[in-house]
Amino acid sequence: MNILVINAGSSSLKYQLYDMANEKVLAKGLVERIGMDSSILTHMPTGGSEIREVREILDHTAAVKHMLDMLTHPEHGVLSGSDEIDAIGHRVVHGGETFQESVLVTPEVKQKIRELFDLAPLHNPAHMAGILAVEAILPNVPQVVVFDTAFHQTMPPTSYMYAIPTVLYRRHKIRRYGFHGTSHAYVSRTAAEFLGRPVEELKMVTCHLGNGASCTAVLHGKSYDTSMGMTPLEGLMMGTRSGDLDPAVVPYAMGKEDLTLNEVNSMLNKHSGLLAISGFSSDMREITEAMQNGHEGAHLAFDMYVYRVRKYIGAYAAAMNGLDVVVFTAGIGENSAILRQRVCEGLTFLGIRLDAARNEAKSREIRRISADDSRVEVLVVPTNEELMIARDTFRIVRERTASKANG
Ligand code: ADP
Repeated sequence: MNILVINAGSSSLKYQLYDMANEKVLAKGLVERIGMDSSILTHMPTGGSEIREVREILDHTAAVKHMLDMLTHPEHGVLSGSDEIDAIGHRVVHGGETFQESVLVTPEVKQKIRELFDLAPLHNPAHMAGILAVEAILPNVPQVVVFDTAFHQTMPPTSYMYAIPTVLYRRHKIRRYGFHGTSHAYVSRTAAEFLGRPVEELKMVTCHLGNGASCTAVLHGKSYDTSMGMTPLEGLMMGTRSGDLDPAVVPYAMGKEDLTLNEVNSMLNKHSGLLAISGFSSDMREITEAMQNGHEGAHLAFDMYVYRVRKYIGAYAAAMNGLDVVVFTAGIGENSAILRQRVCEGLTFLGIRLDAARNEAKSREIRRISADDSRVEVLVVPTNEELMIARDTFRIVRERTASKANG
């Protein structure tokens, strides 16, 4: 079965085509600048060379058409026709309290995703545009939606409620949801498999450290708490996002600097985090290099980042009353040995000990980086959200086919 995974943004569309017989990627690509004057389509067939085209792509329907042209292109394509696509899986950022798991797209599901537009105004409408574009062009291909928030729907109210008047929760669903759920679910399961232990027996903290970053307390295979909240702004310090701060800072700064709501939102989401503290970059590679060359802002940015990851791991060990496994994933978590070392060196009281050589070894594979006598296993697990979406889509479509055959 061939499954196409789509991540539709407001002006971009990323895709990856999987052959589920062996979970191999047949091709992937990206359409950028949708609706702008010159859109760019980059297509990469596995084992072939990258193709880049500049075209006019005015909306998501045109983007889907161009993507299909590429996938079925006589020279660069990997399919002889779009009828070889058996199902499509979409990444959707916000599933609110409505979606606890991935589901097949139906008219009711689309309506419920629309009802959640308010909670993710930048993301969910773009995902919907992707779903509708596919529906218009491939009306008979089943579509599945996989939510970033779904994995965290197991959080208890002690983790997800904010201590503010509950009318705000009842009327507006203001609560903590958490994000990166597909990644936290994938790496926690993969880590348990790697260790050969049932995930139901483990207390894990998974650290997804990319441009956005979050830690999750995965208790017996389920999300028990996570650092992002109602939006992906809460929690760890990130590339350009502040993470946790005293909420009183917001009205105070607005008053002092005469900021509008939009301005303060943009300050906290786009001009804070590593970028604000270093004064020059949101990119951890550049920060690390500058720190090693003695740049003071980079030093403080790096130290604050490390300190906050360490605090969350410690807090979640306390929340779960124990810790068996720490997982590092995403761009920074998978690649920065120095960051992992610095986070873990402050956690020896929990029984965490890294093996320096294992930590510094360059590898793209899942691996253990803790020492043999470390009480807690520390792993690097490359995340793969697209594969997780493809697997969910495959499972749901297969179950549907089986129930149709039986019914
Ligand atoms: P996104 O959240 O956009 O998917 P990624 O998971 O790709 O982001 O992570 C991007 C971050 O990973 C950037 O801060 C980048 O500097 C960092 N990164 C990538 N490679 C390295 C490396 N070798 N050392 C340190 N940081 C790295």
